[in-house]
Amino acid sequence: MDFERPREILVDSLKFQIKDQRVLGAFSKVPRELFVPPELQALAYEDKPLLIGHGQTISQPYIVALMIQALELKGFEKVLEIGTGSGYQAALLAELVKSLYSVERIPELAEAAQRLLSQLGYRNINIGVAGDELGWRENAPYDRIIVAAAAPSVPNSLLEQLATGGIMIIPVGSRWEQELVKLHKGQHGNQIENLGGCRFVPLIGKDAWQE
Ligand code: SAH
Repeated sequence: MDFERPREILVDSLKFQIKDQRVLGAFSKVPRELFVPPELQALAYEDKPLLIGHGQTISQPYIVALMIQALELKGFEKVLEIGTGSGYQAALLAELVKSLYSVERIPELAEAAQRLLSQLGYRNINIGVAGDELGWRENAPYDRIIVAAAAPSVPNSLLEQLATGGIMIIPVGSRWEQELVKLHKGQHGNQIENLGGCRFVPLIGKDAWQE
């Protein structure tokens, strides 16, 4: 099957709302069909979330684009992603930043993503299996943090790992429905902006939901 044309059509549809040319460029480049299970490859360029096993999903392309655009990436950033999942968003981010740290709770997903991303030649991605605390404090602070799972509120532990002047994008709300929150960490407090409704799998951990 040829995936070039469907990929182009998806990127064209993103153009109505996504104006950051670098973000659109990354979507034109990363082969989403490789990040979904073989039996779902034909659906890889539908603008929908898809099941990737272990009860988890690869997020809907439009939401991923919206979140990445909101990070305001210029190319020099050190970024933390929570929830590697399939590794698709990690590949997109790696196209746009200096270095990416990505943590995943489910070791099998972390391993599969690691394997695929190194096959594809990404050298600026470090994947870790999540520990007890949210994030990856060892390598903090991060210029940007992007959370691909939903939290009941903005977790303090992640806020601490964000550099002053940094931006965090995180879905916040109930287990079933959330608002996408953009947080600017300032010298004298944080500024919060709401980017609209969304629906993510729960962020599991100390500062978030229980399994
Ligand atoms: N960005 C992914 C989608 C991830 S779905 C992609 O492009 O495919 C959310 C992921 O967050 C799931 O794989 C889930 O296992 C993971 N997750 C949930 N809680 C977590 C935590 N505390 N730390 C790291 N990952 C977590």
